Amino acid sequence: MLRRTEGIVLRTIPFGEADLIVSFLTPDSGLLKTFAKSPLKTKSRFGSSLEPLTHSRIAFWGKEDASLPRLTQSDIIHPFQSIRDTLSCFLKVSEIIELTIQFIPEREANKKAYSLLLHTLHDIENDCNESLEIIHYKIKFLELIGYAPMLDACGRCGKVGIDSQRDGYCFYVSWGCILCEACAKWMDSPVRISQGVVKLYSDLLTWDIAKIKRIRPSDMLLSELSDIMDMHIKHMITKTLNSRAFIRSLTGFRF
Ligand SMILES: [Zn+2]
Repeated sequence: MLRRTEGIVLRTIPFGEADLIVSFLTPDSGLLKTFAKSPLKTKSRFGSSLEPLTHSRIAFWGKEDASLPRLTQSDIIHPFQSIRDTLSCFLKVSEIIELTIQFIPEREANKKAYSLLLHTLHDIENDCNESLEIIHYKIKFLELIGYAPMLDACGRCGKVGIDSQRDGYCFYVSWGCILCEACAKWMDSPVRISQGVVKLYSDLLTWDIAKIKRIRPSDMLLSELSDIMDMHIKHMITKTLNSRAFIRSLTGFRF
C-alpha cells in the first residue's frame, strides 16, 4: 500500500553500501522509520532531501504493519540548510532531535509534537535566539509526552504556593519535581533553584511562541534552567532505558 504524508528527517543510518534507514517525525505516524534504496549512489534530489532536519513531502510503500516500509518519494518543502551550515546551532538542535527520537513513540500520531518541532526549527532559522528556543522546545515537548518536571507545587503532597527558601526551591532530580519542606524532611541533596528560574519555566510552559519571542531572559537564568532541564532529561532517559531493559528481560521483546 502506498501512503503519503509529510515529515522532518531526524536521523539517517547507513544500511549496506548505498542504502539508508531514514527516521522521520511525521504528524500522523509519529516516529516513522523507512528504508531508502541507493540515495547515496548519485547526487540526486532524492538524496539531498534526506539530509537531517529537511522538511519534505514523502511517500512510502509497504504493508500497514511493515517494520521498515520503503521510501519511494521525498520532495523538499524546506531544507533548513542554514541550521545545518552553522555548526554551533546544529549541535544545539541535535540535542532536541535526540530527545525527540528517545521519547516519541513509533507509529503513533502526534500532530502537536510535529508542529512544535517544525515551528521551533523555523524560529531558530529566522532569529537564531536558539538557546531560548531550545529550552522552550524541551519543556513543551516533555509536557506533551507527560514527562515535564513539576515546579509549581510539591510533587509529593501537591501543596501549591510553596515559599522559596532563602537559597531557593528544592528540586529533587529523582522525583522530577520540587518538594515542600515537610515532604523533603528526610531527603538529602536537592538541587537549589532560584525563584527567577521557576518563573521563567512557568512562562515558557504556558505562553505562546509569539509572547516568548518578546522576552530576553538573562544568560544566567537561561543557563540555570538549561542545567535543570538537562539533569531532568538525563534522569528520565536512564529511567526509560532501564525500564525497557527490564521489560525486555521479562518478555524477550526487542525495542
Ligand atoms: Zn509536600
